Amino acid sequence: HDMHAAAATNIQPAGFPIKYTKLFIDGEFVDAISGKTFQSLNPSTGELLATVAEADVADVNKAVKAARKAFEEGPWPRLSGYERGRILHKFADLLEQNEDELAHLETLDNGKPLFNSRYMDVVSGVKYVRMVAGWADKVTGQTFKLDGPYQGISVYEPYGVIGAIIPWNFPILMFIVKVASSLAAGNSIVIKPAEQTPLTALYMAALAKQAGVSDGALNVVPGFGPIAGASIASHMDIDKVGFMGSTHVGRLIMEAAAKSNLKPVSLELGGKSPLVICEDADLDTAVEIANGSLFFNMGQCCTAGSRTFVQESIYEAFVNKAIEKAKKIVIGDPFKVGVEHGPQVDEKQFKKTLDYIESGKAEGARLLTGGHSVGKQGYFIEPTIFTDVKDDMKIATDEIFGPVMSILKFKTLDELIKRANDSKYGLAASILTKDIDVAHKFARSLRVGTVWINCYHVYDQSVPFGGYKMSGFGREHGLASLLSHMQLKSIIYPLKDSPW
Ligand code: NAD
Repeated sequence: HDMHAAAATNIQPAGFPIKYTKLFIDGEFVDAISGKTFQSLNPSTGELLATVAEADVADVNKAVKAARKAFEEGPWPRLSGYERGRILHKFADLLEQNEDELAHLETLDNGKPLFNSRYMDVVSGVKYVRMVAGWADKVTGQTFKLDGPYQGISVYEPYGVIGAIIPWNFPILMFIVKVASSLAAGNSIVIKPAEQTPLTALYMAALAKQAGVSDGALNVVPGFGPIAGASIASHMDIDKVGFMGSTHVGRLIMEAAAKSNLKPVSLELGGKSPLVICEDADLDTAVEIANGSLFFNMGQCCTAGSRTFVQESIYEAFVNKAIEKAKKIVIGDPFKVGVEHGPQVDEKQFKKTLDYIESGKAEGARLLTGGHSVGKQGYFIEPTIFTDVKDDMKIATDEIFGPVMSILKFKTLDELIKRANDSKYGLAASILTKDIDVAHKFARSLRVGTVWINCYHVYDQSVPFGGYKMSGFGREHGLASLLSHMQLKSIIYPLKDSPW
């Protein structure tokens, strides 16, 4: 409640003009070569928000040229790690100085509650930039005494030109994860924001320029996946590509990389993460955690706790309380203080979620609350709960990416571990129990990148994040995020007349 009060006083009401709607290439905002534009809609109303320049192959080529020039001729990669870190710290300061406008823009474009944009997305983005800025001058290699009269050293070097393609669910944070990590490591970058949410990326590009990121080091090319995105993935002059989004498109990215210049890829993809509630867990806390794990961000999280496994003896009690809790979620205008649940990001996600709700009903799961759209405009869907969900129902196997909780029943830990692992995904998992042996066995048995114990959705800029299995590969956050944007080179030379 204190935080809501802070939001009420700190956040300005609607009224910031939208300043940046063009491509950002070589330090300038420019129209697309074709002159083409596309519309970014406000998901709360379905109305036009901004007309944005649309990059296609020619614009991506132009951006890559600028990025290559910035890498070959500098100054960005020639700056010391300390200097790059200093500029990124300034970028973080500017993000903070403009946090209200940035948050406002995000809520307009994405539909998430302003409170979340302001106190989660922007705040964690700023922390991420400072974390990676701090690492920039602390990357060191090793020295080796070879088996022979030679010495070797290993050194980290930037890749060159990084390509990045990001989704719409956390537009500020995903942009920062890719851009700040690439730049801190001395690369230049060409990044395509999602077509649903291009506005905050362009705004942050202006701030990065103001902070001192040199022209060409950062290029932002809004546009559509199959055109602008695909031309990044298949580009012959991009040295590495980082993709975040669906598993389906992740596969296309890897194919395109393989068929072009064999550029390495990192993939942060989808999930179907299990949240396991054991009978010894505190029931009210479990209900809170389960609710947040799934309904946060309208269910649009790659880590959403979208398989809620509840132990048999507490199943009924949990279900009753979970329904009560879901019914209390405040749905509405994401700019209104106290609103927790805004619209889905666009009509496609809205329809897809409603289709999954229909499939849940058709396959025999019990719909106990929600299940409908809300209001006549915008893409709002009620928090929805299904019980009696079976492991092979579509709502239990597919990533819905909407506010649909699927509750499953389990008896024993061994049975549970098998079922929890029985997914093509492996992003995250959580267990709620007071028994440390159970928690530890679960944590070590799950084939996932992050395990939470007695909590959910707890992230930190320093803690490695990424997937197992078809949730992708590569790790972001912390030192890993910097090293994944660097090549490791070995240099070997004779040791003349050394006594050891
Ligand atoms: P998507 O994977 O299609 O889009 C993500 C990004 O990839 C966007 O920038 C998009 O323009 C780009 N893209 C699309 N097709 C491309 C192509 N052929 N080549 C290169 N880039 C391409 O995701 P979506 O359609 O917006 O959402 C569909 C589903 O993806 C969601 O329902 C959800 O399951 C999943 N998703 C996952 C995440 C995540 O964080 N893991 C984020 C967004 C969406």
